[in-house]
Formats: sequence, structure tokens, C-alpha cells
Amino acid sequence: MIAPVPFTPPVGLSPSNLNVAKERTYHLWVVVLSVLFWGALAITVIGLFYAVFIGFFLWLGNGLLIAYLRAEAVRVNEKQMPELFACFKSVCEQFGLKQMPSLYVLQSGGLLNAFATRHSGRDFVVVYSDLLEALGTDSPELRFLLGHEIGHIKSRHIVKQILLAPGMFFPLVGPAYRRAWETSCDRYGAFAAQDVGAALRAMLILCGGKQYGRHLDAAVYAGQHYEDRGFFISLHELTSSYPTLSRRVTDLLALKDGAPGRRAPRHWLAYCLGAFFPGGGVGSGSPATALIMVLVIGMMAAMAIPAFTKVRETSQLKACYNNERMLESALDQYLLENGKGAGEWNDVVGPNGYIKTMPVCPSLGTYSAGHDEKAGYLVNCTKHGSVHDAPPQTR
Ligand SMILES: [Zn+2]
Ligand SMILES: [Zn+2]
Repeated sequence: MIAPVPFTPPVGLSPSNLNVAKERTYHLWVVVLSVLFWGALAITVIGLFYAVFIGFFLWLGNGLLIAYLRAEAVRVNEKQMPELFACFKSVCEQFGLKQMPSLYVLQSGGLLNAFATRHSGRDFVVVYSDLLEALGTDSPELRFLLGHEIGHIKSRHIVKQILLAPGMFFPLVGPAYRRAWETSCDRYGAFAAQDVGAALRAMLILCGGKQYGRHLDAAVYAGQHYEDRGFFISLHELTSSYPTLSRRVTDLLALKDGAPGRRAPRHWLAYCLGAFFPGGGVGSGSPATALIMVLVIGMMAAMAIPAFTKVRETSQLKACYNNERMLESALDQYLLENGKGAGEWNDVVGPNGYIKTMPVCPSLGTYSAGHDEKAGYLVNCTKHGSVHDAPPQTR
């Protein structure tokens, strides 16, 4: 059996430096992109309407998730799983949380996961039962997990996830920002555990499962981060909203001596192709991120559809006006050659007419003609009216 990583306190971590510098940089980018998007949305009134509409459904979905937790999951308190509650309370106090989040244990058929969410001004932490079984109800490994989730709450990531959703949808920068969150929160976890070995064991359980995870060799696993640095690994990293597990293990290992984890190089082509993969938290643990995806796609569609309809209508109008002009000149020509006006369309349209086949209005209007002494023939469409009555820019 492999010797586990012995007790090692993390070097250089303090409550004030848990969020990595990169998170602040990407935050600025995402804020700028989001402000531009929300601004554009406010200008198009219809966009604002859709935002309120979709926002309502987002709120409804989150409310139902909370209801599900309250009714189906196990609420942890002094009487229910007291050991776990005491551990959670101690981690909350360690980070100086003013209001303790509600903690729930959820049975999820073997999934090893945990997430933090928020509803109506209250924070929630959810731990899946299989992960709890693997980590124990009071252990430094569990403190790592709880510290990670409290890191999300302390850093206000859940509120940011909604307000900054448009910016996070942008390729490269959005996923990079999300990855920085996770890197920061792993540091919160390591600080909560006060033991790098425990943090690694908790992380290796996520990698290798309940039974074998805690016996994995962290250094060997971290080595995977530097192997096979090809195009696809780079693309996977750039488009993912989580750092790869081997990368997270690398970063945790680096906390043993306080040095930053060594970065593996990425393939340049992956950046080019990665620019076409939108962010938005695909593959993240929280069900709210799926809803946020819907929100952002919906808003983009809401802005694109009216613009598309407008372009289509204008092009139909112009095509119809062209038909009218063609019919008018045919009627004028008939009058000139025959000395009398045409009696019906067949006089000018047909195999022997000026126009071979009757032009069709793109909106399926029908054409009628009238004669004016001064203006000559005027053709009218039942859908679009006459080109002569149209404002100049649409003619
Ligand atoms: Zn996380
Ligand atoms: Zn028409």
C-alpha cells in the first residue's frame, strides 16, 4: 500500500489571500462584458421584457430546488447528524460567516458531489450522501469539502453567477473565470482542513471513488497533468468550467511549500478553436447553472429574433415593390403600343406579353392596377400597398 501524504499544514494561506489573483483579473473582464450586455438589453425594450420573463422562471426553478431540499433532503442541525453539524459550524466560524448557511445531505444514487446555492437571501450547502460516507461526518477531509463550498458563499459566487451570466457565456474568458473560482475555493478548503494531506485525500476520492480514492498516490496523479500535452487536452481545459482534477491535485500539492503550482503549456490551436465554445457553466455541479444557460441563450435569441424578422420584412417589401414597378412599366408599354389600356393582366403577362409569368408577392398579397392621368399606371399590393406611398428609405 502507498503511504498517504502525512500531515502538512498549508503554507502561506491566510483568510485574506484565499482568492487567487487571476480570479480578480477575470472578474474585471466578465463585469465589463456583462455590463455591455445588460446595457444593450436595456436599450432594446423587448430584450428587457424577455429578461424579466426568463428571470422569473429562473427564480421559480431555484425555488423548486430549495423546496426539494427542504422536503426530501436531510436538514442537518444539533439534533440531526450532530457531529456533522458541529464540524460545519466550526468551519463557518473559522471563516467568520455572520449567518450560517443551511446544510442538507442529499441521497443521489452514488454521485460524489456537493454544491452551494442561494434563495431569498439565504445560503444553502448541499452534500451528497455518498461523498459524506467517503469523507466521514467529522474529519479534515470533510472540512476541506465544506470549506470549499463556504468559499463559494464567502466569495459571493452564487450572486455573481446570475448577475454576470452574460459575461460568463463568453468563450475562453467565461470558463477561465469559473475555473479561477474553483481554484480559489480549493484554497478555502485547504485552509479549513489545515492539512494538505487531508485536502488531497478528499480530492483523490473525487478522482478515484469512495473505495480506492484515498489510497491513490497524489504525486503520481498530479504527474498526469503534465503528460500528453496535446491539442485535445488543451481544448478540454480551455472549454471546461472546472480545472481538471489532475490540475487541482497539482495545485493542492504545491500548498505543501507555498509555491504556486507549475503550469503545463497548452497547444496554441486550442485557443483558436476554444474561442468558439461558449462558457456558461456546462458540466458544473449546480442545477442552477443549466437554468442560467437557458437564460442567456433565451436572451440572445430574444435579441436576435426581432432583428432577423425586421431584415426579412424589409427584403420582402423591396421585392414586392420591384414587382409593382415591373407591372407598371408593362402596363405603360401596352398603352403606348396599343393606344388603349390593358383590360386584364393577361394582356401584359403571359407567353406573348411583356412579362412571361405573373410576379408573386413574397407575403402573398395580390396586385391590382389603376390609371392616373398624370402619374400613369399605379399598381397596388393588398399586403404592401403602393411603392409610391412608401417612405423613401423602403422604396
Ligand atoms: Zn466549487
Ligand atoms: Zn406585396
